[in-house]
Amino acid sequence: MIQRSLRTPMVRFLKEQLEKAGCALGDNFIKAVNCDGKVSGGYMPGLGIVVCSNHMELQDDVNQVVIHELIHAYDECRAANLEWSNCAHHACSEIRAGHLSGDCHYKRELLRGYMKIRGHEQECVRRRVMKSVTANPYCSEAAAKDAMEAVWDVCYNDTKPFDRAP
Ligand SMILES: [Zn+2]
Repeated sequence: MIQRSLRTPMVRFLKEQLEKAGCALGDNFIKAVNCDGKVSGGYMPGLGIVVCSNHMELQDDVNQVVIHELIHAYDECRAANLEWSNCAHHACSEIRAGHLSGDCHYKRELLRGYMKIRGHEQECVRRRVMKSVTANPYCSEAAAKDAMEAVWDVCYNDTKPFDRAP
């Protein structure tokens, strides 16, 4: 499924952009592993991406995780001074990964059919950013919230390497 995800247009685009930015992905950059806890995947700085194969059943879910984590890899590649222990840096990358990967599309589409909730996508991204950043041992809940609010506008509107949010 990881191999298949590498052939989807969005993953191919991100891979190309990483190469252009000088961060070509090695052969085993994306690995399938068994994960404890309710996580679908992760980015390990400098090491690569893991996809939690024991929690994945659908190709779409694998694609989603790969796209999300590749955006983290892209952020680390382009910003030489990115520090994951910095809650604002981490929050910024989560905002971008949540927004640009379309993590919140499915629910947004679903909800749209039943009730028109404005701003649902942003609410969904916020919730997911908080979940990720509070899992960072350097970021308390209050620190994560402050960091997210402080960088929200800049990072939500920063759609690189896309021209606009896909
Ligand atoms: Zn993330």
